[in-house]
Amino acid sequence: MSVSILGSVGKLGKNNVDDVVKVQHLLAQHGMPVGRADGLCGPRTIGAIHTFQAGFLRQPDGLVEPGGKTLQRLNLISFKPAVSNKVAPKVVTPQEVKKAVPAAAGTSLIRLVRRDTLGPLNPGLKAVSNQYMLEKLGKPRESFSQACQPVTNEKLKKYITTASVGPFKVTGLKPAVDSLRTIMAEIAVKQPEVYQALGSAGMLCARNVRGSTTAISNHSWGTAIDLKLNGALDGYGDGMVQYGLTLIAPIFNAHGWYWGVAFRKEDAMHFEVSRSLLEKFLPDIK
Ligand SMILES: [Zn+2]
Repeated sequence: MSVSILGSVGKLGKNNVDDVVKVQHLLAQHGMPVGRADGLCGPRTIGAIHTFQAGFLRQPDGLVEPGGKTLQRLNLISFKPAVSNKVAPKVVTPQEVKKAVPAAAGTSLIRLVRRDTLGPLNPGLKAVSNQYMLEKLGKPRESFSQACQPVTNEKLKKYITTASVGPFKVTGLKPAVDSLRTIMAEIAVKQPEVYQALGSAGMLCARNVRGSTTAISNHSWGTAIDLKLNGALDGYGDGMVQYGLTLIAPIFNAHGWYWGVAFRKEDAMHFEVSRSLLEKFLPDIK
């Protein structure tokens, strides 16, 4: 069932309250940060329309017209979510997603958007420091370099697992892998196009932060993952972000994962377990 509007919504639009509410709900379903659907078309709603359009229009205009292309795209995921937070997530296969997504849905998910055009990053979340990781989970191995090396800490090894999270298999800290599986199930429902394009560029990898000789990457404890879209990696430290990553970041954030886009050196392909989520894991890692 698709949603229709009577008048245009957005920049210089008619902005009837009922129509604005509908568009705000659709934008929210696509993970756009619109806040509460209040029927008022302010800068935040127009900004969200703009960001949404950046995925498929060369020149986003911030306007949703009745029967127009933007409304069609907004309607692409207006089917009912198959999972709720209360039940264990079902692993969705790429084939199932393919059935749910209309064939016309091929957008340029790897199109780049500027980091400084994004809304607030990682609201309410904190990254975990090396000091805290070392204190709580111990040292994954004795020495680190830029290369991935095996974890040698026997206690930590007990909590490392390899399992499918839906679109791909990962090796990482058990509770982080479980959390990723929940996130992927939600992405499959809310962002099926991104789900189909998702690949992993690795989770567990005991090494230093890229370019550093002292900072240990959180990949070393298996609490971080790097993602690919259509096989392409987001460029490191260039302040530009693959559009598809902006669509799924709010889902990662909602599950307590911190997005590397906010690191001093932008790392948009990287998501990691935040401080508050790690604290929830700790009682099970004793
Ligand atoms: Zn990473």
